[in-house]
Amino acid sequence: MKGNFVVRLLMALLVLAVFGAYSYFRAAYTPYSFELEDAQRAAQAPLAIAAAPAPESAAPAVQPAAVPETQEAPATPEPTPVPTVDPDSPAGRAAALGLPAPPDIDVTSWEYTLVNGDHSIGQYAPEQLGYLNQTAEADDIQTSYNPNRCPVDYRIAQALLDFALGCREAGLPVYLSSGYRSYSDQAANFRRICDNNGISDGKIGGYYVTMPAGCSEHQLALCCDITDKYYATKRDDKVASPTIDWLQEHCAEYGFIHRFPDGKQDITGVMNESWHFRYVGVEAATYIMENHLVLEEFLALYGVE
Ligand SMILES: [Zn+2]
Repeated sequence: MKGNFVVRLLMALLVLAVFGAYSYFRAAYTPYSFELEDAQRAAQAPLAIAAAPAPESAAPAVQPAAVPETQEAPATPEPTPVPTVDPDSPAGRAAALGLPAPPDIDVTSWEYTLVNGDHSIGQYAPEQLGYLNQTAEADDIQTSYNPNRCPVDYRIAQALLDFALGCREAGLPVYLSSGYRSYSDQAANFRRICDNNGISDGKIGGYYVTMPAGCSEHQLALCCDITDKYYATKRDDKVASPTIDWLQEHCAEYGFIHRFPDGKQDITGVMNESWHFRYVGVEAATYIMENHLVLEEFLALYGVE
């Protein structure tokens, strides 16, 4: 029994020795494994941190990419502009006269129709007329014949009404004395004025004071004689008034031009008429009035002779 006890004691010591050795080696290698884990954490942590702000850094990443582009644009040398304006284009003809490029318009459109001593419209009559109160004290546009109102082509009736109302709003009296005249009306008008002045061709001093039938803008119905009040006969000095001044200053805002200005008689063929306003639309009117042109000069820029 005693020898058996010694064997058991030795076995127990052996087990202790093995356990002790195991503990020693485990303790000896554990720090290494901690370092491994720490190293792994350290390796993963920056990845996790880097992954989290990735969406934020993605947005600003676009801007740095865009900066070089915007910097490249001015950096790219501009090709030296070569004058390519066709001398036979409206812009080319305007440039030759020292004028800015005229508006891009279709001069065959109705509002640019040229009527003068050299351009007859025959027995043309407008399709629809609009009748306006002559003193713009009523702002309706009638479409049935009314001898007490001023008739014009319906397409310009609203613009003319606005023009007249604008004058009244400026505190000035206005009178729409003459709009549309039929071919036969103009023929009678022409004969009467010729008879009264002892002439036969409608001209005084080489310029028209009345147009032959077919050659009047009043027959075209895109114009109106406007004064401050009724006059039996008109002459520049006689009808001069703050109203005329206002009309000439503001006509383009409503699409109208001062059609027969003093100093342009050799081009228009017509004696200066401070009261005759012609509709051409705001775009053309603005260009014409700003550059002190008449309709003949304006249309010539587009090749209309
Ligand atoms: Zn007139």
